[in-house]
Amino acid sequence: MANMIETLLNRHLHALRPYESARRLFSGGQDWLNANESPYANTYDLDASTFNRYPDCQPEAVINGYANYAGVKKEQVITTRGADEGIELLIRTFCTPGEDNILICPPTYGMYAISAETCNVGIKSVPLKADFSLDVNAICQQDDVNLVFICSPNNPTGTLVDADDIRQILTHFRDKAIVVVDEAYIEFASDVGWAREIDNYPNLVVLRTLSKAFALAGIRCGFTLANENIIAFLMKVIAPYPVPAPVAQIASQALSSRGIELVQSQVAQLNQQRASLASAIEENAELEIIGSANANFILFRCEQKDALMQYLVENGMLIRDQSKQPGLSNCLRATVGNDAQQKRLIDLITTFFTDRRAA
Ligand SMILES: *Cc1c(COP(=O)(O)O)cnc(C)c1O
Repeated sequence: MANMIETLLNRHLHALRPYESARRLFSGGQDWLNANESPYANTYDLDASTFNRYPDCQPEAVINGYANYAGVKKEQVITTRGADEGIELLIRTFCTPGEDNILICPPTYGMYAISAETCNVGIKSVPLKADFSLDVNAICQQDDVNLVFICSPNNPTGTLVDADDIRQILTHFRDKAIVVVDEAYIEFASDVGWAREIDNYPNLVVLRTLSKAFALAGIRCGFTLANENIIAFLMKVIAPYPVPAPVAQIASQALSSRGIELVQSQVAQLNQQRASLASAIEENAELEIIGSANANFILFRCEQKDALMQYLVENGMLIRDQSKQPGLSNCLRATVGNDAQQKRLIDLITTFFTDRRAA
């Protein structure tokens, strides 16, 4: 029976390994500093009086709220179940299975490749240079790609992509490919990002999310920003009711001026926390900070990363192993948390090395 079921499997999926989300890897633990979630849980009001009805496909309050926040026209916004669904929607809309390719620049966010694989779309890979900048020449030599994924600030290196590099890539691919700039962490960076450039580049797409700075990973709400033309094609493919009514209510409250002020003050606090986490890591001679700090996490190298990870897990402290990514051997990524979480993380790391030295 199990064998019969296996024979039915889409043959492109045999080799696929599912995305090892932080939550799938470890469901226990008490301190979750492994998925770049916000430590804040803000409160919202729900009105259940219309929950018997199907929701709007693209709730106006959410679309207008985000357009306003991002400084784009409402016709340039589509909302999805997290930015992850935006990634998949782009691939399903603009790549023909078995024929077309996307381009990624590892080390980077894992979902671009996973979504391409599930859709039987090819993956061309142009690794980042040693300083984690884009290899613009090598990228522009790839003439067989439909989508170019660029993550800025990049997960997991925390690096911002040079604006001139992105401009050069947008111009090179102007008549050839769509360039997707994933700005899941843009609120934590001192950079305005690319949303305001959409009118200047017909092939520019910007991905955003409420999962990180807006502290709403649990509601699954993301945004794809692009020219009307691109949005119209995505609208052909998107599910009929992608945004549950409670999600729309919460998202529109988060995007009110009060909601945005709250995000700004929480981001300011998290950026202070990030500085204190970075200096604590820096002070430890066994650890080396890798990349830069433009998002809500710190990447660092530790020669004893397996033992350290195991020790942290035993103590209910979860961070993320990034060592399988190209160029990131022995690298771990810790999300910026609240004071108590960070203090516990630093104390555990200190104790780990003190015990080792004593042993
Ligand atoms: C977290 C993350 C996303 C996904 O965000 P969701 O809106 O929660 O799906 C997309 N891109 C990057 C780089 C991320 O780190």
